[in-house]
Formats: sequence, C-alpha cells, structure tokens
Amino acid sequence: MYSNIALSIGGSDSGGGAGIQADLRTFMALKVHGCSVITCVTAQNSVQVKCVEPLKKDTLTSQIDTLFSDFDIKSLKTGMLLNDSIINATALKLKSFSIPKIIDPVMVSRTGSKLLEDSAINAYKKLLLPIADLVTPNIFEANLLSNLDIKNQVDIEQSAKSIIKLGAKAVLIKGGGLKDMKGRDFYLDVNGGKKWFINKFINTQNTHCSGCTLSAAICGYQALGFDLIESIQKSKIFIERSLKNSYQIGSGPGPLGHYQ
Ligand code: PLP
Repeated sequence: MYSNIALSIGGSDSGGGAGIQADLRTFMALKVHGCSVITCVTAQNSVQVKCVEPLKKDTLTSQIDTLFSDFDIKSLKTGMLLNDSIINATALKLKSFSIPKIIDPVMVSRTGSKLLEDSAINAYKKLLLPIADLVTPNIFEANLLSNLDIKNQVDIEQSAKSIIKLGAKAVLIKGGGLKDMKGRDFYLDVNGGKKWFINKFINTQNTHCSGCTLSAAICGYQALGFDLIESIQKSKIFIERSLKNSYQIGSGPGPLGHYQ
C-alpha cells in the first residue's frame, strides 16, 4: 500500500501552468501521490485567463467525500476557490479533517485576472483562516487579509501578526512582490515562533505558478512526514531549483520546471 498521498483543492489551468496541474506536477516530483478536487475550470494560456466556470457545489463536495472515504490522505492544500459558495462548502468539509491544511489564498493571476470575487475575502478570513495550519499569502493577498499597505520588512511582520489573530496557526508571507524582499519569506506561528526564510533570487520571466508550487511542495513534504518548518525549508530549495529549470511555452511567462 502506498501511503504518501496529498490533496490539492483548486482551479484547473488549461495551460498546464498553474492551479491543479502545477500542484499535481509538484506532488509527482516529490514522489507523492496527488489527488485533486477541482473547484472551477479556467480557459487559460500564458497571457490571459479567458473564462472561469465554477463547478456545482454538489460536484465539489462529492469529490472531497469520495476521496476521503477511500484514501488515507496525509495533507491538503487549497488554491483558487473563486467565491463565497465554494469557500463555504470547502471550509465546512475541511473542518472535520485533522491532517495538515495549507491555505494558499489565491486572489489574482499574474496576468491580472481576478481568481477570487472581492466579496469572498471576508469568507476567507472567517471560515478558512481559523482552520488553517499554514496560510501562504503573497504581499498583495497579505494586504487584503490584514488591511495593511505593506511596504517593508516591519510591515510584513505586522501583517503576519494580524493574520495569526484571525485564527491561522501559522503564516508564511512571500516577500517577492516587494523590490527588496525577493526570495525572502516571513514565517510566524501562533506560539510566537518566527523565522525569515531567505533564498537566492532567481531572475527569470517564467514564474507562472511559483505561488501554487510553493504551497504544493510544502503540502507534499508534509505528506512525506516532514514537520512544517522542515517542509518550508525543503520547499524553498525545491522552488529555487524549479525556477532555474523553468521554461517558456507561449508568448507570456512560462511554468516552473522539475525535469532536470
Ligand atoms: N490559475 C489558477 C487555476 C491558479 O490556481 C493560479 C494560482 O494559484 C493562477 C492561475 C495564477 O497563477 P499566476 O499567479 O502564476 O498567474
């Protein structure tokens, strides 16, 4: 019996760059069996998200129930959840699972398309942060979750405190969106544990899915039995290597690579 199983709950990216497709590639690279619960389908390439279609609530919850009724899933992550209804249904199901839950609060694509309705930010705060073992916002997402306008390292630490106050057990704020914070991510947990994870900045245009890939790698390492801090440390190294191996497949930013 193979028992290293992880689950990604998120959106399908038809271009194979981000979302569920990126997560499954990441799990595979870590030799973790990946399951997926699709929340919505996007028509997407490297330059645009052309359309987004959410799945029916019953189709969503049925995917979750079917997986957990048979598989011993060791960890899970969420990605694109789009709207209130999907967040509500997902949070209700996830509440009862005591495995590590990583919440990647995906809001906007690199190409500027909304992947979360504005009205759904409150549902994230109320329903998903309180059940999160780790939340992994970028600067833009951290601003919205903590009602701040982050400009520097001090603001990042302040934002992390606010996110912990909303109920998350731990938060990892990705600094890459700020000029001087590339490769620097700040971790804070509910017990006051804190740490700056600092990695080499890899200068490439092909960063499509770097956010999804980081949260999927953390989830994957947790499925392999590593603790949270070890999983983050290993995932940062994984991302550095995947960015070095990233490649272009269309006219816009390409995905991270795990092939070498
Ligand atoms: N599409 C889907 C389905 C996603 O889940 C995400 C991010 O998580 C994106 C697109 C955005 O990826 P990027 O920010 O690299 O454009």
